[in-house]
Amino acid sequence: MWSTISALAVLALWLCPSLRAAGRIEALEPHMGTMFRIVLYADDPVRAHAAIRAAFDRVADLDNKLSDYLADSELNRVCTTAIGRDVAISGDLYTVLVASQSLADRTDGAFDVTLGPVIRLWRTARQTGWQPAADEITSALQRTGYRRLHLAGTAAHPTIRLDFAGMQLDLGAIAKGYAADEGLRILRDRGFPQALVAASGDIAFGDAPPDKPGWETGVDSIDASRESFTDVLRLHNAAVSTSGDTEQYVEIDGVRYSHIVNPKTGQGLTHRIGVTVVAAKGIDSDGLSTAASVIAEQVGVPAALALIEKAGARGIVVVDVDGQWKKYETPR
Ligand code: AMP
Ligand code: MG
Repeated sequence: MWSTISALAVLALWLCPSLRAAGRIEALEPHMGTMFRIVLYADDPVRAHAAIRAAFDRVADLDNKLSDYLADSELNRVCTTAIGRDVAISGDLYTVLVASQSLADRTDGAFDVTLGPVIRLWRTARQTGWQPAADEITSALQRTGYRRLHLAGTAAHPTIRLDFAGMQLDLGAIAKGYAADEGLRILRDRGFPQALVAASGDIAFGDAPPDKPGWETGVDSIDASRESFTDVLRLHNAAVSTSGDTEQYVEIDGVRYSHIVNPKTGQGLTHRIGVTVVAAKGIDSDGLSTAASVIAEQVGVPAALALIEKAGARGIVVVDVDGQWKKYETPR
């Protein structure tokens, strides 16, 4: 008798999705030079895995368009075909470039996706440990400048034009945030809104997990070698990005150069900094956290916080002041 009842109960739970507890499913896949992670809650694992597959495929599709590492990406192709003439581009490339150019305008070029030639010098420096020569930096800087990148056409038929040969675009500061947004959108469209898509320092969150007010995420500012700050954020339908010099840097003659470049000097940032930004979308949190890192060094931390606040986002900036970490935040 009891076994019949319990069998019926199990059957009822299986047939009625609202009675079934949604299980947590997690998947990892390498994309865009990092590990992408998807977490979602689902009561139908088969459909959930199909949705995860579609989300990762979307990220791979974006990598083929936006990567500066893949020789045949759309981004790299336009760097040779769009010299002095308007060339048609995908809606994705257009979306990311529009957001990038807007951020360049708002930061007077502190954020600049045309910095590719200089960024490549520092990439080599991180591999060899050798500082780029001053004349190499000067000549690379001559091939940069966001005002030399022109978007035109219509949103349905966008185009790009670059002013001269040798320009190299680099979307490393913004593409992962957009890819996280797009992965999350695919999961939601397929019926899984309780999800997150994480691309190392850039995470896009959907609806909160079952019975929780939000996704709990710990933000470790700077590094663990000295006393630092850990903020626990509870987020849903938002995105968080962290930038700074914690993971990618090169130390030369006792100076630590970040992978984030100051366009005014062509040097990697040398001030120790960690910036965390929470925005509605990953495309915004990603771009803003990189931009704020540059502004903090060029102008100062208050200007970096003002940039984040004006964009309708929230931020935490941790900087080294005489060997001590100091934490600053946008007003809550
Ligand atoms: P993120 O980890 O999002 O802060 O992005 C860092 C990456 O952005 C670097 O590895 C470069 O590819 C790129 N980048 C570096 N400096 C700048 C800059 N000033 N403006 C835009 N992109 C940059
Ligand atoms: Mg970024």
